Amino acid sequence: MDFTFTDDEDAYRHELRRFATKVLAPHYQSDDKAAKLRPQLVADLASMGLTGLRIPERHGGQEASAVVAGMAAEEVARGDFNASYFIIVNALVSDILTRNATEEQQAAWLPPIASGEVVPAFCITEPGHGTDAAKLEMKAEPDGDGWRLTGEKTSITLGMSADVALVLARTGGPGARGVSAFWVELDDAYVSRATFDDLGSRAIGRASLHFDGLPVPKDALVGGEGQGFVSVMQGFDYSRAIIGLACLGAAQVSLDEALQWSRDREAFGSPIGTFQGVAFPLAEQATYLCGARHICYEALWRKDNDVEHSTEAAMAKFWAPKLAAETIHQCLLTFGHLGYSSESPVGQRLRDVIGLEIGDGTAQVSKLVIARNLLGRAYAP
Ligand SMILES: Cc1cc2nc3c(=O)[nH]c(=O)nc-3n(C[C@H](O)[C@H](O)[C@H](O)COP(=O)(O)OP(=O)(O)OC[C@H]3O[C@@H](n4cnc5c(N)ncnc54)[C@H](O)[C@@H]3O)c2cc1C
Repeated sequence: MDFTFTDDEDAYRHELRRFATKVLAPHYQSDDKAAKLRPQLVADLASMGLTGLRIPERHGGQEASAVVAGMAAEEVARGDFNASYFIIVNALVSDILTRNATEEQQAAWLPPIASGEVVPAFCITEPGHGTDAAKLEMKAEPDGDGWRLTGEKTSITLGMSADVALVLARTGGPGARGVSAFWVELDDAYVSRATFDDLGSRAIGRASLHFDGLPVPKDALVGGEGQGFVSVMQGFDYSRAIIGLACLGAAQVSLDEALQWSRDREAFGSPIGTFQGVAFPLAEQATYLCGARHICYEALWRKDNDVEHSTEAAMAKFWAPKLAAETIHQCLLTFGHLGYSSESPVGQRLRDVIGLEIGDGTAQVSKLVIARNLLGRAYAP
């Protein structure tokens, strides 16, 4: 057993904490109020290598381990939870491409993601199919040498800002085996977008994307025909732990602030931290955060060491965002009336982490994966 980071990892962690505090945190609340993506954010993340963490070095990325990608999400989220979306989406998309795209496709698509020139999105959800994603209806029909995409994707993170997207569409019969993945340029007259007015993560945004017979070339197909769903699901197997760590980063910084406030704030002639009614809830949340963090890092360590990790990743996804919301809520209460003000970042963190209780799959679908792995598919179909 070894619960430490290497010296290099630790140095990167410290550098990221400084970056998150100095460069990201000052914009966290103003970006939310502006409710639109600030281009400098992408440039700043790219300058730290954060847009290409899981991209091979030969394609301009960092070729970082899954553990380091998770650590980066955790640190970045301490300063700006929403900035961690770039780590999550880019890691998910680039992992799917490195495993399924040809070398030529990778050489064309990955470098601009790593450099931050291109913002990718990931399009699977449709108005009628979220959790039940294998039933998706969007069509990809053969057209000359290529394909035409027709249908609607919804709830797409960065949907208004993304330049490109990995889009799942049906090329064959019903079910998962009839679904293929396409790499699609979004800035096109055949694509229209409509934004959501969301509770949180407003600088990142979600959108519906309508594809009105968008022509895509033959080599936009990623992997084989009918393999899109399976390859995407394999990508999710560890990105869920990265999501968990982003949520825990936002929770941990809130807890650190609440602990400091418990030392500083006095009531009835004593610091409020001397009251067990204040200290014990924080001690409980600190304990749960420690447990959830271990599960997230174990899932990522297993991924790096080629050890089965779908159970741990599903545990991370269902527990960490929920725990983060509970912890941040407790911290908000610790600040009393100040916590309820929009001057404090704590309320925004709460709104933001709730999004990832749903995004990338709800707790229910994660529990289904865990139950299937524990009981067998016959008991958890
Ligand atoms: C912040 C955010 C970001 C997102 N980003 C993206 C993105 O980038 N790309 C993308 O494609 N999608 C994205 N999504 C969509 C997300 O993946 C879906 O919302 C999610 O998979 C759930 O689907 P749904 O909303 O259609 O809910 P539904 O599938 O309609 O489920 C509704 C409720 O029923 C429950 N439920 C459904 N089936 C079962 C079952 N079998 N057993 C028990 N309970 C069940 C669910 O847990 C949920 O509580 C995002 C969503 C959010 C909120």
